[in-house]
This record gives sequence, structure tokens and C-alpha cells, in this order.
Amino acid sequence: MTGRFAPTPSGRMHIGNAYAMLAAWLDARSRGERMLLRIEDIDTPRVLPDADRLMMDDLIWLGLDWDGDPVYQSSPERHARYEEALACLANAGLVYPCFCSRADLRAASAPNEGDGFMIYPGTCRRLLEERPDEVKARLARGDRHSLRIVMPGGWAAPHETAADAYSGFIDEVFGPQLFNLPRMVGDSVVRRADGLFAYQLVVVVDDLDMGVDRVVRGRDLLRSTALQRWIRASLLGAGFTPQAHADSPTSFFGEAANGGPTAMPVESHADGGGSLAGASGERRNTASSPEHPVYAHLPLIDNAAGKRLAKRERSLDMGALRARGVTPEQVVGYCAYLLNLRPDAEPCSAAELVSDFSWEPLRAEHDDRAVDPSDPSCPVWLREA
Ligand code: GLU
Repeated sequence: MTGRFAPTPSGRMHIGNAYAMLAAWLDARSRGERMLLRIEDIDTPRVLPDADRLMMDDLIWLGLDWDGDPVYQSSPERHARYEEALACLANAGLVYPCFCSRADLRAASAPNEGDGFMIYPGTCRRLLEERPDEVKARLARGDRHSLRIVMPGGWAAPHETAADAYSGFIDEVFGPQLFNLPRMVGDSVVRRADGLFAYQLVVVVDDLDMGVDRVVRGRDLLRSTALQRWIRASLLGAGFTPQAHADSPTSFFGEAANGGPTAMPVESHADGGGSLAGASGERRNTASSPEHPVYAHLPLIDNAAGKRLAKRERSLDMGALRARGVTPEQVVGYCAYLLNLRPDAEPCSAAELVSDFSWEPLRAEHDDRAVDPSDPSCPVWLREA
């Protein structure tokens, strides 16, 4: 099995990032698994120069190692794979162009619940169904558009049964999760109007290609997990072959290979001329099928004011802490305390935590945490920060 670190190089790592990295590393290493590093620099406008190098330096300083070379989402090789994945979805009739502006979306979408999701009302999906010639003309004219992946059970597919509309999984920490895909996720952008591939698509393609089967990250991504599982199932259903398993597709598909990973009906509408083939990807790759990774979502870490720690809060980042002489054992010990692995924030090394790592204590108590200097459990070095 394989785990991964997937930091976004948008700033220096802070306590909350170190806590997530430690959890991911312990999850993999306590099982004797591989740990890979992927630098999530797909959203180039958010990337800060040198942040990747500093992140790697901080990981090593914390005693968190990884196997092999880091994978950069910005590399030409990865881009070629994202193109392939998108073509695969398009050939299966699972994506459509969306011409809605940000203002249109804000006006028409259901309010989101703080995790950034705006549920798309399906405007351009209906446009394609009802007026395909108009879509064709707008594409020919070069109108600015994103590409969206269709959810099952939505407007265009009334024949789908209610069960198809759900994505369910058991999270290692938060337990059983059930998301209604059209209602709680909605048709989502896989390529942005500015031409960049969307995070939601590239993470799935990367995890497939890198053979990642354990994903540890913040609970703000629970809903994204439902979407990513759908994208993953759609890709596999559409015949996308992960690089990690290109040599042994049969063993990779496991029980889902009953009859093979059948390609979906090919009905391209990338040119706006076709109709949606129907979103039946997940039916061939049921929610319980073995090719989905195991997920562990973590409680979020807030600051004393109850707001989620952000990379712009420099006082708690590794640069500031290291400059003040804080040791890696102090940071790791505090993160272990936040993960409920230790009763207090006594310094310890990451390696010391490997042998009795378990999700059990966090599963038992997974409220969000706060780094609160007024809390008696807060170590002195943090109170001073
Ligand atoms: N790059 C994301 C972050 O830094 C993590 C995405 C993931 O784990 O899939 O929050």
C-alpha cells in the first residue's frame, strides 16, 4: 500500500500542516508502507517561489521522510496525463462545456457550507441537451468556458435510480459518510476557464498513477472525497489506465474486473455536438470496490480566535518556530497530542510514534482543535509565538 504527502507550495508549512503530514506519515509507516511526495503546484497563481524546497526541508527537519523523487503537478509529464484523463471523460460523454461566469454562478448556486463548494444548478448541461447547436456555435466562436463533469441522477438522467446518486465510504476517523452527488456536490469543474486543470481532477489522476491507496488530509475535504471517488470511478469506467498498474491491469481492477473494466459508450460531445452519454461510471465501480483508497480525514486546527490556521499566519509557521529555536521534537510532540496519540505535548520524535500508531484515539474524539495560548495544555514555546 502507498500513502502520500500532498502539500500545496503556497507558503511555509504551519503547525496544522505539520500535524496533517505527521498523521499521513504515521499511517503509512506504521503499516510498513511506501510514502510518496507530491507537490500540488497545479494552481500556479497560488504557488510561491521556493515554497516546495522549504516544505521538503521542513519535512526532513520533522523526521518525516518519503520514497523516491517528488512528483510535481506542473511537470509536462503530468500535464500530458491530465489531458489524457480529460479526453477519456470527454469520449465517454461525461464532461460538458460551461459558459457561466462567476457572477452567474454566485447568483444561481445553492449556498455552500464553508468548504468552497457551490452546487452548480446545471444551466449549461441543459443548454447542451436543449440547444446543442448554440453550444457548438459558442465553442466555435471561442467563448470562454470551463469543463464540468456530470454527476449521476441529475437533470439529464431521470432513468438513474436514486442509489446511483450517492457516494458512500467509511472514513478512518469520521466513520460512515454518505453524499448525495447531485445535491451535495453537483457537476464540478475539471478544467477551469483559465485553462488550468482543476485540483479535483488532477488529484484523482495523480493518486491513480502513483498507486496511492491511503489518503490522509483535513476534514474540509470530506465532500471533495465524494467527488473524487466519482471522478475516479468515471475515469476507470471510461477505460483510463493508471500508470502504476499499467503492467498488471487485471490485478489492479480486482473484483471490479468481472467482465473487465468495460469502456463506456463513446459519444464525444467535446465539440458540443453530442448529448450526454449518462453518468453511469460508478455503477461499474461500486462504492465498495477495492480500487478506492482508504481515507482518513482529520479535525481542523483553528487559531485562538476559532478561525482555521492559515499559511499567512507567520508566527506559527516552521520558519518562525525554527528561527526561535523550537526543536522538531517539540513540534512533533505537540502534533501527536493534537492527534490524540499522547496525553500531553511532551517532546518526542516521529519515529518513536510509529510502533503504537492507531486511528482509534482520534476516532473516539474528533472535534476540531484550537492552538490556544490561553489553554493550559499549550506548550510554552507556542504561547510565546
Ligand atoms: N494539497 C492539498 C492541501 O495542501 C491536499 C490535497 C489532498 O490531500 O488531496 O491542502
